[in-house]
Amino acid sequence: MVRELTHFIAGRHVKGTSGRFGDVFNPATGEVQARTPLATTAELRAAVEAAAGAFPEWNAQNPQKRARVMFNFKALVEKNMDELAHMLSAEHGKVIADSKGDIQRGLEVIEFACGIPHLMKGEYTENAGTGIDVYSMRQPLGVVAGITPFNFPAMIPMWMFGVAIACGNTFVCKPSEKDPSVPLRLAELFLEAGGPPGVLNVVNGDKEAVDAILRDPDIKAISFVGSTAIAEYVYANGTANGKRVQAMGGAKNHAIIMPDADLDQVVDDLIGAGYGSAGERCMAISVAVPVTEKLGDELVRRLKPRVEALKVSTPTDPAANYGPLVTREHREKVKGYIDMGVKEGAELVVDGRNFRMQGYENGFFLGGSLFDRVTPSMRTYQEEIFGPVLQVVRAKDFEEAALLPTKHQYGNGVAIFTRDGDAAREFASKVQVGMVGINVPIPVPLAYHTFGGWKRSAFGDVNQHGPEGVRFFTKIKTVTARWPKGGVREGASFVIPTMK
Ligand code: NAD
Repeated sequence: MVRELTHFIAGRHVKGTSGRFGDVFNPATGEVQARTPLATTAELRAAVEAAAGAFPEWNAQNPQKRARVMFNFKALVEKNMDELAHMLSAEHGKVIADSKGDIQRGLEVIEFACGIPHLMKGEYTENAGTGIDVYSMRQPLGVVAGITPFNFPAMIPMWMFGVAIACGNTFVCKPSEKDPSVPLRLAELFLEAGGPPGVLNVVNGDKEAVDAILRDPDIKAISFVGSTAIAEYVYANGTANGKRVQAMGGAKNHAIIMPDADLDQVVDDLIGAGYGSAGERCMAISVAVPVTEKLGDELVRRLKPRVEALKVSTPTDPAANYGPLVTREHREKVKGYIDMGVKEGAELVVDGRNFRMQGYENGFFLGGSLFDRVTPSMRTYQEEIFGPVLQVVRAKDFEEAALLPTKHQYGNGVAIFTRDGDAAREFASKVQVGMVGINVPIPVPLAYHTFGGWKRSAFGDVNQHGPEGVRFFTKIKTVTARWPKGGVREGASFVIPTMK
């Protein structure tokens, strides 16, 4: 029996009316388990109207009361962690422990948003002029929207709506049509936490819903995370329609390995960060750059048996390192890149293409693959693969290695492994990448810092969460106030006031 999912508008589940649906698979079995309704422009509009209707009252709540709803929401998500993690794994395919990590990283932004009374505080200057005080305040934008990818169906919606709603905005979330059940459940929990109906709405859909968001005159800002082509499209069209847009895109994250690094630790880190979640992470390490030929030989010698030994299994198998990919289509795309890598002349050290999971032959599984002698001129190096594939690009020295991530079209994350503080410091300072790890393979910044890549990994100027997130979802108003002493008039002035 294939379940039919809904939208969540004004605090209620709403059946889709378009007659169009997207398939939600069970990636372990390959079966369709649910159908996502794909919204029309009118359905999106209904959610915007619900959000616009809820805005005045929500905005009028004092920030402490909004924070209390966030505290309640956090407690409810924690209480329902197991259910949410199973729901997430069943649609995405990542292993249960990793789904809990996905939810937890989202909750950490909710924790950050619980501090909104402090974060919204403005600035004040007493006596900026005689009897004149100046103060500034942060105010929410109104109705804002989030468009999210399949690979973090809990974390990324929470990154966006946690900060936006705490600031006093009301929200329309358009999740990935591939795994929308967790965002829908989060909206239910937000209501249960005391969030008024209409403050958090979920509209399922595809390009039609996204285009409706881009055009809707009442949506003031759009936060997008997904692939670069769509990020660029959302940024160009959203800003052309006068909206504030932050649009995060794809990635190719390099790990530079210096000859003095602790190689046992490096191999562990590359295996975890390269193959965890089947490589379907925007901060996955997809390129390892050993410095010197000798280190390259040793690294590949040590990586090979570890990649061959990866335990690929169903998401509920506690022994699994990673599970199936999200869809058959995506698995075929990743396989296509492995075929391409072979044709381009890279050396396929471990070939995961023929992996079959016994009893789950129709699941979207793929074994781990390892390429050596990949070069920057290869298409498989230049593009994002987003699968369980690690590419080794050998560099003769530090300078050559350090230039690779800087020259790459993407600039999301990068890591350097070394014991040399001077090299690490220089690298962190000069590399043209937004998030840098020093002996840390996945340098996803914590909730109270801020997340964002550079170059074609992100369009727009303001990052996700942390103080930047608050800045994105608010606008500043500055008030200059004078309380004249009774009876004193200054007369008309035709000159711009200055502080001379
Ligand atoms: P995607 O671009 O296919 O989809 C993202 C969103 O855009 C979804 O909600 C989808 O419905 C919508 N969409 C898809 N096609 C569209 C179209 N033609 N017009 C308008 N909207 C469209 O991305 P995905 O496959 O869901 O996610 C994987 C990608 O996201 C990878 O490239 C990954 O690197 C990236 N990602 C980036 C970050 C980051 O912070 N930089 C984080 C997570 C994922």
